[in-house]
Amino acid sequence: MNTSWEIVIGLEIHAQLATKSKIFSGASTAYGAEPNTQACAVDLGLPGVLPVLNEEAVRMAVIFGMAIEADIAPYSVFARKNYFYPDLPKGYQISQMDLPIVGNGHLDINVDGVNKRIGITRAHLEEDAGKSLHGNFHGLTGIDLNRAGTPLLEIVSEPDMRSAKEAVAYMRTMHELVRYLGICDGNMQEGSFRCDANVSVRPKGQKEFGTRTELKNINSFRFVERAINHEVERQIDLIESGGTVVQETRLYDADRDETRSMRSKEEANDYRYFPDPDLLPVLIGEDFKTQIKAQLPELPQAKKQRFKDDYALDEESATILTSSRSLADYFETVVKESGCVAKMCANWVTGDLLAALNKAGLEIIDSPVSYERLAGLLKRIGDDTISGKIGKQVFEELWQGTATADEIIEAKGLKQITDTGAIEAIIDKIIADNQDQVEQYRSGKDKVFGFFVGQVMKEMQGKANPGEVNKMLKDKLK
Ligand code: ADP
Ligand code: MG
Repeated sequence: MNTSWEIVIGLEIHAQLATKSKIFSGASTAYGAEPNTQACAVDLGLPGVLPVLNEEAVRMAVIFGMAIEADIAPYSVFARKNYFYPDLPKGYQISQMDLPIVGNGHLDINVDGVNKRIGITRAHLEEDAGKSLHGNFHGLTGIDLNRAGTPLLEIVSEPDMRSAKEAVAYMRTMHELVRYLGICDGNMQEGSFRCDANVSVRPKGQKEFGTRTELKNINSFRFVERAINHEVERQIDLIESGGTVVQETRLYDADRDETRSMRSKEEANDYRYFPDPDLLPVLIGEDFKTQIKAQLPELPQAKKQRFKDDYALDEESATILTSSRSLADYFETVVKESGCVAKMCANWVTGDLLAALNKAGLEIIDSPVSYERLAGLLKRIGDDTISGKIGKQVFEELWQGTATADEIIEAKGLKQITDTGAIEAIIDKIIADNQDQVEQYRSGKDKVFGFFVGQVMKEMQGKANPGEVNKMLKDKLK
């Protein structure tokens, strides 16, 4: 068969909201505590307790809704999603079904330089379940309920993506957005940001969607791409060999790089959703929205455009520098404090600094070189106290973190020599010692010029002002 296939993908992303306490109780949401030390009576679902909605979670959902230009529901309702599982002590999860808090927004992604708008059907608030632990229990399963009741925002996209690459771009853009907004820490290892991918294929040109499968609980950008590509291949092979795709939930096994069936639609739970009688509907008024709108930070795309306009940065630098709010803030502070050309600051931040951070496995907020210190270094390059090349040497010392650029330059005697007399003496000596090369240069071998520059710099330990050296050499070699 040579049908050509079109891939259709919709993602459901779970972002853990960065509240201090849980969505319906006062227990802490901090990660990594001893099992079951952060689950209170409400999280345990003990009889007689009542959930109380955490306003902060609502605020975060509304911030998100505004950032994706969605409708914020003036009236939304919590519902019980009933199912039995050992890590769900109440026997139901509190979620939202018919009336979610956020509806009908969008997110713009960029793949290989092309922009595309992905529709967002809805985003709703819900509580997370606990965790089953399978290690070290001698044939038993342990249950840790610390995560039970942690607030989640489930963000459901339209089936608008057409390749695994677009799905990754969407997931990355969303990841960046929730971190910008400060509503999710985005820590994927800890499960704070994870997704389910719905995947189907259809012959190109066909209007109806094919039957989809759902790939559960993917917690890395690399896995989402691999899992989707695998599933697409499996579906196409299946259809081309005469089979049909059944709607089912599949699990991606990263170790074996394959997807496996978990449960089919026939076995799917009937969740018997109904409005939770313990919780009042959530009413969101104009005042609340106005107040939140005023606090909305500059969003990644707007910031990137501003960096291109105001700092004359190219697409690539602007993209890197706005990839997180903390990196963008760092860069802007360096520009301001150093008074240097933004382009040069951008080169240092995206070049030397990020390379050193990557190598050390550090984030910008943990940078051993503070923005004040980097600005201090760039100031000295900007005012010609040192050359860019010596600057790299000073940067290495700054990384060790004990002194400022001025202190290092002073202590190591790195000041650039602009004293023309001193430079001239060296140049005269080098010309005298290298008469062969002088002949070559004068007979037209321009390349030899670099040799002279190198010799002078070597003699002066890199401290001569390069502009001055070039000018004087040209004069003397005439
Ligand atoms: P459910 O309620 O069963 O989870 P939804 O209608 O909420 O189903 O859809 C869940 C996700 O699946 C959404 O992100 C949606 O875009 C996506 N989706 C729906 N149909 C398809 C399809 N045929 N192919 C790929 N993705 C799909
Ligand atoms: Mg769904």
